[in-house]
Amino acid sequence: MKTLPVLLSYAKNLPVDMGHNEFSDSVIKLVDKRDLHQCKFCGWVEQMPSLRRYVSLTGVYDTSQQQKHVVTSCLICDLSLRITMTSKREAGRVVYMPEWSQPQLANLYRAIYLIKRMGSEAQDLVSAIECLEDHIDERVLEVPRYLGITGYSLSSFAEAIAEMPDDVYLKRGQAFSPLRIIPTQNYLEQIVGEQWDELLMHYPLESIEHLKEQVKHAAADL
Ligand SMILES: [Zn+2]
Repeated sequence: MKTLPVLLSYAKNLPVDMGHNEFSDSVIKLVDKRDLHQCKFCGWVEQMPSLRRYVSLTGVYDTSQQQKHVVTSCLICDLSLRITMTSKREAGRVVYMPEWSQPQLANLYRAIYLIKRMGSEAQDLVSAIECLEDHIDERVLEVPRYLGITGYSLSSFAEAIAEMPDDVYLKRGQAFSPLRIIPTQNYLEQIVGEQWDELLMHYPLESIEHLKEQVKHAAADL
């Protein structure tokens, strides 16, 4: 599947940007039929209806948007595309990580979250996960250095993006290309909670092994 690029974006017509269901029901139905619940940015197929998100390619979220401008997103990619919401909910953090793509990071965080929920079954991966999380924490600190600003906070960064003049905003892709978004553990706990556990119960053994391999490889690559 060809994925769409993940750009740091905000919902132009929603200054507070807290909602996630602003499109008409008929458009959502058509989008579901077309995308089959697959995130167009990272490829994850979200089986849980309450965890599906829909993103406007025009940046405007209202019932006038047609299905060609609306695509399915997973809740992790949605954090990049709704930066104001992400900062208000403390749902994610920006990280400087040009060596990994946003889809790779989204998939890695899903794997980490699912493995953490396996508890003692995944005891052998505790140190790999700690290592990855420590490394990523350090890379979060590189964001203000990359942007050349002091006193960085996600909310001020999100506000600055939302206040960019149109011409600068349209060209943001290159300047932000090494930046990624990762979800906070709290946000996943709050929003996903136990919902992915059900998936895990039905996962074939090889898929669980695949999750573990993903984390082991990512940790080994550091
Ligand atoms: Zn995604």
